[in-house]
Amino acid sequence: MSATVQATNVKMRACPLCGAGERKVLARREPWEIVECARCAMVFIGSELEYDVQAREHDWMDEHARAASERKKKQPIFVFLSHVLKPLRPHTEGRMLSQTLRWARAGTLADFGCGDAGFLVLAQKYFDVTGIELSPRGAEISRERIAPEKILEGPVTELAATLPANSFDVVTQFGYIEHEWQPIAGLRAAHRLLKPGGVTVIKTPNYASWNRTIRGMDWCGYHIPAHCNYFTPRTLAEILRRAGFQPLPRPPADRLPTSDSLWMAARKPA
Ligand SMILES: [Zn+2]
Repeated sequence: MSATVQATNVKMRACPLCGAGERKVLARREPWEIVECARCAMVFIGSELEYDVQAREHDWMDEHARAASERKKKQPIFVFLSHVLKPLRPHTEGRMLSQTLRWARAGTLADFGCGDAGFLVLAQKYFDVTGIELSPRGAEISRERIAPEKILEGPVTELAATLPANSFDVVTQFGYIEHEWQPIAGLRAAHRLLKPGGVTVIKTPNYASWNRTIRGMDWCGYHIPAHCNYFTPRTLAEILRRAGFQPLPRPPADRLPTSDSLWMAARKPA
């Protein structure tokens, strides 16, 4: 983090769920503070970075690799166990697809924060896909894997506004909303794009997970400041309702506190 960024581009951030200014500081990692809203208990980074700074100085693809390598140095046993147990866990992109197919099996799909398009490669067997990615590197890889005109590069909240309203059957957001400095604007953008009765499917780190409690600030969901919103099932359902969605029932397998990932789907009322 350079001193110039701190001095010129960081500003105080109101609660991204309810807009309140009162908060309790839970943790500090200079220059950032993780805070809990005094009104709704949403947990988030209490200061804000502008989009261009985020794209230029905090490219997600770089930060993700760096964070993984730091965890490996710091917590070799956790990383080793995670690696050993990996074959037992469902393949992440496969799980994204199965979570999506639970609610829709064909039609048009927009993916917010498509990363390197790993999910879209699978999804395009079922859907006519469009991806939006802020990271220039992610967008570049995506254009090589999916038809280039189907990949939009830049902030989701700006680019989704260029797509036609009421025109998508599904909006997927896998590992997007925790990065979005204006998550309610991101959800409203998804709501606008969806046809009435359309579904959004979300995956984000689970702040209510046991792992977060046990590992404290070493929890893999923090990623300060790439991640700036830390949702529990309750706060995610609440922000979805505020954006006009009806959260859908979650199967018991998705509700285990042992899971670092929070999966949730919600419908735009018909
Ligand atoms: Zn709040």
